[in-house]
Amino acid sequence: MTERTSRQPASKQPNCDVVVVGAGFAGIYALWQARQRGLSVRGFESAPDVGGTWYWNAYPGARCDVPSYNYAYFFDSEIVRRWNWSDVCAYQGEIQRYLRHVAERCDVVKDIAFDTKVSSASYSEETALWTISTQSTETRPGEIVVCRYLVLAIGALSEPKVPDIDGASSFAGETYFTSKWPKDRAVDFTGKRVGVIGTGSSGVQVVPEIAKAARNVFVFQRTANYVIPTEGGPIDGAHMSALRQDPQAVRQALRETYGGNQPLGIGQHRFGELDAQGREDALRKAWDGKYPALAFRDAHLPEANAAISDYIRKKMQEIVADPRTAHHLTPWDHPYGGKRPCRSDVYLQTFNKPHVRLIPLTETPILEITPQGVVTSTETIELDVLVYATGFDAITGSVFAIDITGIGGASIRDAWRDGPRNYLGTMVHGFPNLFLPSSAMSPSVLSNMATLAEQQIDFILDSIVWLEEHGRPGLHPEPGSQERWREETLRYAARRPGALTTKSWYSGANIPGKPRVFMVYCGGFKKYHDNCLTELRDGFPSYALERRTDHKQEDKRQPR
Ligand code: FAD
Ligand code: NAP
Repeated sequence: MTERTSRQPASKQPNCDVVVVGAGFAGIYALWQARQRGLSVRGFESAPDVGGTWYWNAYPGARCDVPSYNYAYFFDSEIVRRWNWSDVCAYQGEIQRYLRHVAERCDVVKDIAFDTKVSSASYSEETALWTISTQSTETRPGEIVVCRYLVLAIGALSEPKVPDIDGASSFAGETYFTSKWPKDRAVDFTGKRVGVIGTGSSGVQVVPEIAKAARNVFVFQRTANYVIPTEGGPIDGAHMSALRQDPQAVRQALRETYGGNQPLGIGQHRFGELDAQGREDALRKAWDGKYPALAFRDAHLPEANAAISDYIRKKMQEIVADPRTAHHLTPWDHPYGGKRPCRSDVYLQTFNKPHVRLIPLTETPILEITPQGVVTSTETIELDVLVYATGFDAITGSVFAIDITGIGGASIRDAWRDGPRNYLGTMVHGFPNLFLPSSAMSPSVLSNMATLAEQQIDFILDSIVWLEEHGRPGLHPEPGSQERWREETLRYAARRPGALTTKSWYSGANIPGKPRVFMVYCGGFKKYHDNCLTELRDGFPSYALERRTDHKQEDKRQPR
């Protein structure tokens, strides 16, 4: 295949069938699936290696909080049988090695251009083709590739939030971001004064590791989070053997659950069925089982959620010795689940160490960062190292980082000005044959995202094959379908305690100026999957099908 540079005009002939951008869980599988279906592929990844999330977030303590035996691929039973996880919740390095192993086994590494950022993607109605441009670097000109289908497997949590604190760039010490941790060397905190800004899941994981070596750790907390126990330690051999007996049955079973990852044996009763002692027993059992949110079968109801929230607050306060610190570490302002809960058995305990100090920014806000350190309303804290665990411009950030234009040159930034709109979390009206796994209005981060990656890529590739078999050049949802889906997403969100009232990245509240729209589908994995299957079975009734420009193709679907 002849490659062209960005200086040459786009062709009317595709260079390949499918372009996949991103080489995380979704991108690796998309490349393999596309090739399995006989389609030619090209992959682009801005990192120098595969892994996605698990390449970039290499901070000490980074690990998954969904059991690794479920947070994994199931499409190939041999991978399930051969790969041995060293821990129930594996650490970052092991997950990245796993993804590298899968990419090599599937032989997709050769398809991927690494260190290559895709900067724009535009659709031509005339040719029904996408033209993708990559960013040029000092040593390499940008490239243009023309394809028929574009899969942007660019991640929901891949565009770091830019620091929005006055003077941030003036700090004279070492600065690190959990979301872009250095890979070429180990960061040495020994004997240093370290500040960590941010107490979401990343901050909660990194603080205890830093505290092992640092002279002082100052944890700057704006909002307290729920911190619940995590699973860890060696995987139960009997469980793993059972799972390896029939990986395809497990794959199917995960898709039948609410979150793509269902632990068993918790939450046997409804909240209203139990007396006070029964509720306390259920809460203790669920806490000991590491899933306090599953104490009751109807844990989503406000009164059950309130009991769960209170119980977790009480347990958190029992762990922290100093009552004032315990009070500040406790999330009083939102119910459990309003923000993404954090999981750790060591974070709260770290505040019992004399060299670790919590700075509650609700009382003493940061005024500015200076070359010496952080200035709050009451003091200047001098630092040698500053770690930002300040999160991501989630879900839409990675999409807007690419200049995407669809039918009539319309920009996705305009189409999503008031928040993302799509159908079934994967396709956008006006952008035919553009597929967005892990994106807005899908179960995304409220599910096991490895299960989701496989399910969505299967759906996407099944859709592409359907188009091929029916001789249709393009597919995108009807505007009414995506309005319906948005309403359904918001309807489910309204039932989730705290979803619409808590300031969280789920609704864009962590980024100044971002539209406040709840972006995660909480109807459950099974319902989501069933919706996708229905569209496939019924020939995409909620979509517009592009016709060939020679008008020889007819839409043979029955009118609805
Ligand atoms: P990603 O892994 O984010 O991969 C996207 C890739 O696209 C990146 O490598 C990025 O470099 C590349 N990319 C983006 N834009 C461009 C561009 N313009 N050009 C070229 N390349 C581009 N989920 C869970 O279910 N369980 C967990 O325990 C869990 N733990 C997590 C821990 C951390 C620290 C973080 C940040 C997230 C975690 N998640 C977890 C969510 C996680 O993001 C998903 O589970 C999953 O890894 C997403 O895979 P993906 O392939 O969709 O996207
Ligand atoms: P996050 O949850 O968005 O947390 C960012 C933290 O930084 C919050 O405490 C936030 O405070 C704070 N912050 C942001 N800007 C700030 C500012 N200007 N001043 C002070 N504080 C500021 O980000 P994250 O911790 O990286 O996690 C993001 C998501 O990635 C998680 O929700 C989860 O889905 C995934 N993740 C999972 C794991 C895991 O356990 N497997 C680990 C890491 C990440 P506010 O809350 O007040 O905004």
